Amino acid sequence: MRILPWNGYGGAFSLTFDDGDVSQAKIALHILDSFDKKGTFFLTGGQSAFEKIWKEAWINGHELGNHSMHHKLPITGEEYDAYEEVVKAKHFLEKRYGGVVLTYAYPYSFITDGQIKYLQGTHIGARAGDDGQVMLKAEHNVDWYRIPSFVATTDTDIVTYKRMIEQAVEERAWVVLMIHAIEGIGSGYEPIPQEVLKGVLDEITKKNIWVAPFGEICAYWRAQKIVETAMRENKTENIVWNVPAFFKRKTVLKVESDLNEKYQLLQNGNIVVKTTGGFYEIVFNEGMLQIVEKRKG
Ligand SMILES: [Zn+2]
Repeated sequence: MRILPWNGYGGAFSLTFDDGDVSQAKIALHILDSFDKKGTFFLTGGQSAFEKIWKEAWINGHELGNHSMHHKLPITGEEYDAYEEVVKAKHFLEKRYGGVVLTYAYPYSFITDGQIKYLQGTHIGARAGDDGQVMLKAEHNVDWYRIPSFVATTDTDIVTYKRMIEQAVEERAWVVLMIHAIEGIGSGYEPIPQEVLKGVLDEITKKNIWVAPFGEICAYWRAQKIVETAMRENKTENIVWNVPAFFKRKTVLKVESDLNEKYQLLQNGNIVVKTTGGFYEIVFNEGMLQIVEKRKG
């Protein structure tokens, strides 16, 4: 039995946007929607603009993530409360926008033990900056609270993005893109031209690549690792795993199996049916999978 990486696609790609800039609310969202692709918007507790737009975006399948309460730089000598920046911010954003926040992005990509301490047990994953390795391969082990990203700058040309997307497919990897602003309005950090964003979306639409919010792909990958470990450790027909509390949303894994005709898969008493695509869809949140012999007669 094998879990298909990246939801059965040849690679994965996430577009993430920081700071809730006006150009994201007024331009990026529309461009993403015109390609029918969903992005992740990391917002802070301190900002209150475009509340209605963000709420709608969330309902429409985009992800809202936690970018801390005050976007502070946690440096010595300054007043900094990691619990407030990480955990209180998450609850605050959930209340304001009406949904469950799964992920975090470090302000200024500045990672500290204090933030990590509170992220563990409350968030599925956290996005870091560029550490030189942005091709994340499914078989590798990643630190869920230091997931690297490619930082988009104004002068990053479309050729660079195209090469990166090609490489992601070649290496069957996940690439996370970090964007701050889109050219046109506002004064966000390193705005990228609208044509470049469209070019990136155009390119990923043509490829066999899973384009989904950061939290969705992170959840899939993390769930995959948990179930794979459980499969290795369980030699019986019952595979059991723990579902961490922060898996607040349903995560479905695609599984390939050359199961003998005599056997079937069950999750909490329900038969897992083979899809027309030839794979099984198992619900990670069920916490178990059973391989049983079909009843005769
Ligand atoms: Zn920021």
